[in-house]
Amino acid sequence: MSVVLHGFAAGGGIAIGRAHLVVRGMEEVPQLDLAPEEIDAEAERFDAAIKATRRQLEQLRSAIPENAPTELGAFISLHLMLLADVTLSREPIDILRAQAINAEWALKLQTDRLAEQFDAIEDEYLRERKQDMLQVAERIYQNLMGQNTEFLPEGELDDDTILIAHDLSPADAVYFKERHIAGFATDAGGPTSHTAILGRSLDMPSVIGLYNARELISQDDWIIVDGISGVLIINPDDLILSEYRKRDRVYRSQRRLLNKLKDITATTKDGADIELLANIESAQDVRLMHRLSADGVGLFRSEFLFLNRDNLPDEDEQYRVYAGIVKKLKGKPLTVRTVDLGMDKNPRWFGEGHALNPALGMTGIRLCLAEPMMFRTQMRAILRAAALGPVKIMWPMITSVDEVRQCLNHLVVARKQLDERSMEYGEVQVGAMIEIPSAALTVGSILKYLDFISVGTNDLIQYTLSVDRGDDSVSYLYQPAHPAVLKLLHHIFSTAKRMGKPVSVCGEMAGDLHFTRLLLGLGLRRFSMNASNLLAVKNVIIQSHAGELAVQVKKLLRLSDPEKVRQAVKKMNAVDDGKNATLETT
Ligand code: PEP
Ligand code: MG
Repeated sequence: MSVVLHGFAAGGGIAIGRAHLVVRGMEEVPQLDLAPEEIDAEAERFDAAIKATRRQLEQLRSAIPENAPTELGAFISLHLMLLADVTLSREPIDILRAQAINAEWALKLQTDRLAEQFDAIEDEYLRERKQDMLQVAERIYQNLMGQNTEFLPEGELDDDTILIAHDLSPADAVYFKERHIAGFATDAGGPTSHTAILGRSLDMPSVIGLYNARELISQDDWIIVDGISGVLIINPDDLILSEYRKRDRVYRSQRRLLNKLKDITATTKDGADIELLANIESAQDVRLMHRLSADGVGLFRSEFLFLNRDNLPDEDEQYRVYAGIVKKLKGKPLTVRTVDLGMDKNPRWFGEGHALNPALGMTGIRLCLAEPMMFRTQMRAILRAAALGPVKIMWPMITSVDEVRQCLNHLVVARKQLDERSMEYGEVQVGAMIEIPSAALTVGSILKYLDFISVGTNDLIQYTLSVDRGDDSVSYLYQPAHPAVLKLLHHIFSTAKRMGKPVSVCGEMAGDLHFTRLLLGLGLRRFSMNASNLLAVKNVIIQSHAGELAVQVKKLLRLSDPEKVRQAVKKMNAVDDGKNATLETT
């Protein structure tokens, strides 16, 4: 019988193959009591294992294959740092001396204690470093036991091998680069674990965080790893197998097709040049963005820097992040949205959320204006990063021009503060997100003060239709192509055009293939989206005729009945000649 397990998607694509169970770890650790005269030698044995581990990691770091992910060196360095820490390199010796037990057992007691401490950390990213600690401890253990530290199978593997492990370390990634395997799955790991990051950059079908997959899988079982939706299927029946073979074929052929589009410009059939930008949440996202040749970052959701912590990031910390991204972008523009907190994103330092109606309460720019120190600190950090490359500042959840004027005043103060400190900073363009109907309807007055705007359709739809964007029970009412939304979009785009100011859309609608033609017809020329959708959207763009779409949209804008609009949009997309790929990830 087939068994379906759900984890986190860590790498694109689908792999179908045979399970190879990887057994290692500190599961059956020998427990021995030592005689007093044996203790010194045992401590020396532990020391020798630490030294061997260091040598191996250093050797791995110096022999990273050229085609390995760039993060690999940093991850191995982190393992070396963990190894050097007294908690792993000294304290097990204290335990073995105090309890007169063998080194393996002392190491096991210590790692259990450290694991508990990691589990108690609230910050998800730091908590997940537990896996790194365990991986280092495992390597020490293998050296103590005289086991092969390269736990992965020696010699050649079948191409359809799917490794099933408790966890995989950065060092294992070196192995992956040197041999061909079809995919991997692990019990451990969360979305921000190094295993996930490696899976993504190795671009290998992988699912992580499956919890107990190894207990359910036997050696050579048939396995499907669906790295697109984070599903693993054990012993699929013929029907599932043939369905996934089909999905795999479709995925591969779409990907081949789309990859060819990487280096061509996004120009419509009638010559309209379209800018395709990426939405990012961390510096790591820049890599994929470059791989897909995005034109820059249209939205950096900076609030992710402020979450999962007990205090605010200070100016220098923020500067380092922004400056790091600017450097990685190599001259492509970075649009930093100032913190957009409140509503669904509540930092711990913000206190308990007591708002009666958080979506209508102290969110976005309201919070920034209510916390001027925080706001100016962030803008100073952004201004400093702008000395290194093109940077834009974007203010979220603007309701009217009053707030824009206040923001500009704070920006003047932020610059003055940097002048007083004689700090270097750069020019920035300033813009606002248009995501509240009042801002959409008065966009002309807002734009007078700004260099650009970007439409946050996620919120614009929510507020226009009065539908909570996160509430499943009303999701059927959440309609991006609702005539009311389209009328607002039309007003925004045509006002921006008349005033000669750039406008983009950075809500999910920009990366949704169903609306690409509609947005083109409405006059949009800048799309900002999750980079993984970028080539699929480009594929639609290059097959579209912007002028013809504009004529169709003009008619469509006269409609007020949502059903009629739906039909019209369907018709607009029906010209699809079968080449419009619908890839979710690349
Ligand atoms: C939006 O509202 O469309 C948007 C891009 O912002 P967020 O999704 O972060 O609220
Ligand atoms: Mg928003």
